[in-house]
Amino acid sequence: MEKIVNLAKRRGFTFQSSEIYGGLNSCWDYGPLGVELKRNVKNAWWRDMVQGRDDIVGIDCSILMHPRVWEASGHLAGFTDPLIDCRVCKGRFRADHIADAQCPLKPSKAPGQHDKCDLTEARNFNLMFKTFMGPVEESASVVYLRPETAQGIFVNFKNVLTTARTKIPFGIAQTGKSFRNEITPGNFLFRTREFEQMEMEFFVKPGDDDRWFDYWVNARLEWYVGLGIRRDKLRLRPHAADELAHYAKGCSDVEYEFPIGWSELEGIANRTDFDLKAHSEHSGKDLSFFDEETRERFVPYVIEPAAGADRATLAFLVDAYDEDVVDGEARTVLRLHPQLAPIKAAVFPLLRKEGQPEKAEKIYSALRPHFAVDYDQAGAIGRRYRRQDEIGTPFGITVDHQTMTDDTVTLRERDSMQQTRLPIDRLIGELAQRLATPWSR
Ligand code: ATP
Repeated sequence: MEKIVNLAKRRGFTFQSSEIYGGLNSCWDYGPLGVELKRNVKNAWWRDMVQGRDDIVGIDCSILMHPRVWEASGHLAGFTDPLIDCRVCKGRFRADHIADAQCPLKPSKAPGQHDKCDLTEARNFNLMFKTFMGPVEESASVVYLRPETAQGIFVNFKNVLTTARTKIPFGIAQTGKSFRNEITPGNFLFRTREFEQMEMEFFVKPGDDDRWFDYWVNARLEWYVGLGIRRDKLRLRPHAADELAHYAKGCSDVEYEFPIGWSELEGIANRTDFDLKAHSEHSGKDLSFFDEETRERFVPYVIEPAAGADRATLAFLVDAYDEDVVDGEARTVLRLHPQLAPIKAAVFPLLRKEGQPEKAEKIYSALRPHFAVDYDQAGAIGRRYRRQDEIGTPFGITVDHQTMTDDTVTLRERDSMQQTRLPIDRLIGELAQRLATPWSR
């Protein structure tokens, strides 16, 4: 993880938030390359979950919502983690994670195992961030930063149903920021207090829910494989009955083998009719569905694949990170799926003379409307290739002496490092075709 954090900082994928003021714990900013990578992750999700399907539509809800939403959803009463304090070292721990935590005084032991430890009983701590709407800080104006994007979807269920002319089964998808006042954030992008989610609520007829649950568990695992994550680094972990949230009939996590061990990447839950029923009761608005064909009225069940954009970005970075040796020299390479790579191709003039830079710049300008491309003429060509390998750029285009006579360039491939020669006027087509080709490590 340290190598990845260092690379991410050095190459401008991520910076610590407010770094010049000493940083803000567990908050990260995405730099020029990181913002492209994360955007590509979210775009791939949106393309595969919304635009590529005729049974899912999108929505973009506000982060601040009516406080009664959180009363109905159960978040006000129950969105808590059990918190344990140490009276001696002032350390804070999540009771359910304490066995894997380190005692700040003696990191080889878990909190409570050192003779000096003096732990409090666990007490429930609500994870929602509170703020005030309007100029007066009084209890009547308390609002919350949403801890999940799902509730915006549930409260808009009727709006979407009546305006988008959808019928069950169908889904509503949303990406956006969520906030949780986590007790123990950390592990880089894995657990932060402000993060982005990619959630989809799929509404089905009760009785069809088990089938759709299986469908989404499988589809979501395959999504990561399709974007290049090695299959043996992914696994499904069905939740045991005593682990399930109060509203869930079933839940399975897609786990990835992060450097911190196997951990949740995404959760797929069968939320039953809990949310729609709760919002019907609390709002007094009927959120049932009437099936015109069967003349039946029912409250739909909901299957929810809930992913995190930051956690997924971390998984793609971790999985892509590789080191090998080229011509006796160590090389760091990010083997990112070409569709996720922040830059698709870099254009290099071999020499900074004989008209090569001008020719390369012309190629760069011609490619720019079509792909995210870079231009680099600084330093030895080998070093320029390495710089691009390290940020995952799948293709390098080099203008050399021969280009000046026959208008051909070399196209270098990041993983195999193979070079092929092709005419400049075939570049756009060739890159488009290679970017659309299925890819795996
Ligand atoms: P965890 O058990 O790790 O706290 P969760 O089960 O509470 O996660 P969900 O409520 O299912 O998480 O949220 C769906 C997804 O949102 C998670 O799989 C994860 O990818 C992402 N996510 C949740 N909390 C965080 C966080 N604090 N930082 C980054 N991503 C998060």
